Amino acid sequence: MRLLVLAGDGIGPEITAATLVVLNAAVRRFRLDLDIEEDVVGHQSLKQFGTTVRADILDRARAADGLILGPAATFDFKDAEKGEINPSMYFRKNLDLFANIRPSRTYPGLPAKLGQFDLVIARENTEGFYADRNMAQGNAEMLVTEDVAISLRRITRNASARIARVAFELTSARKKHITVVHKANVLKLGDGMFIEECRKVAREFPDVAVDEIIVDAMMAHLVRNPARFDVIVTTNMFGDIISDMTAEASGSLGLGGSLNQGADHAMAQASHGSAPDIAGKNLANPFSLILSAALLLGWMGRKRAAPGFVEAAAGIERGIVQAIAAGEITRDIGGRLGTKETGEALAARIGGA
Ligand code: ATP
Repeated sequence: MRLLVLAGDGIGPEITAATLVVLNAAVRRFRLDLDIEEDVVGHQSLKQFGTTVRADILDRARAADGLILGPAATFDFKDAEKGEINPSMYFRKNLDLFANIRPSRTYPGLPAKLGQFDLVIARENTEGFYADRNMAQGNAEMLVTEDVAISLRRITRNASARIARVAFELTSARKKHITVVHKANVLKLGDGMFIEECRKVAREFPDVAVDEIIVDAMMAHLVRNPARFDVIVTTNMFGDIISDMTAEASGSLGLGGSLNQGADHAMAQASHGSAPDIAGKNLANPFSLILSAALLLGWMGRKRAAPGFVEAAAGIERGIVQAIAAGEITRDIGGRLGTKETGEALAARIGGA
């Protein structure tokens, strides 16, 4: 199989390098048939090629079995006409990666700020309030006058139904409990439609318990008792916000792994951004991207009937649990190692030398 790796901006190159050290250890240990190719996106690409994402990279991504995308400086990329395309949006939209899966759990050895928990957020990934991708043409944010801005939110039955199905399938292999998070008391049409589609899918999964909770109350429930949740399904922006909170509650934003998946393609991408405040300092926690890469290996293994990849995914996750318990971790979660050393220690733990 083939994997395309794009390091991105800010802490992207550092956490991607650490992820590759771990991936290469997993390739050896689990004897994976995996070719890893690298290319550039983001600021480096803009400087070299006049665009943050070259069109031929999309062809390479389509031809690959999986994609790893480091964080990009999305805030800097404002004008697509000048080649400033948000790489995250670009791949999610063009590869139709409609489901963003963001697991979050506590770990033995780390302070559990809100108590122990183990949950997964299934976030719709193609529409909602994301104005740069929810239109076939143009942008859903408009400046009406210098003092008036309008942002449009798009919700469709199709996108709601397909994220709901992914979420119900996920919980079927877990605790069989779904929480639908919405704001249908205010967004009666959009979130009303989202809930309706979740209810329709729920009928196909009669053994799954379903709760519906309004997003503001949900934040209070999560802070009070995150252990009561298993799989949370929600629209694009709510999922983004909730998952940063749950990642931090698990120890750090640097533990937030995530997989963007569609019918035929998947992209590993950390939940957090490019963290320019700590870029280039060997401080970033690489576990977010390493966990994302493990999710990708698991997806590839299941999709292409390659059990070694599923074992490798579990092996990496196990290695992270052990590394955390042993204190082989970065400063954000109370350790002393740098990004590079954390990757090397985990690779040694996974073995395969
Ligand atoms: P961007 O504009 O690209 O979203 P940001 O700094 O606004 O970047 P994040 O990158 O999500 O947003 O970072 C938010 C905070 O979390 C920052 O203080 C950052 O240093 C910290 N952080 C994010 N990722 C990590 C990581 N992998 N390890 C340690 N700290 C992190």
